[in-house]
Amino acid sequence: MASILLEPGESFEHVHGDVSYTTLIFGHVEFSDNQQPRIMAVGEPIFVGAGCSHTIRNVGDATATVFCAHQSSPAIASSR
Ligand SMILES: [Zn+2]
Repeated sequence: MASILLEPGESFEHVHGDVSYTTLIFGHVEFSDNQQPRIMAVGEPIFVGAGCSHTIRNVGDATATVFCAHQSSPAIASSR
């Protein structure tokens, strides 16, 4: 699990090689991938597909903390 700290106004675009879940721990953060940008709710995991680029942006006025949890277990990833 990777912890990401974002200063106000800072954004971070990245991609994982496997399936992951992005979860907001603290702050006000906007999440966008190929879909329309959305404001994240604290504690609500957002599913990110393998190889899918996603951007998280701090839209608040305090340092935000976000976790990207990699789902290496095949239980969920191999359901197709
Ligand atoms: Zn991520």
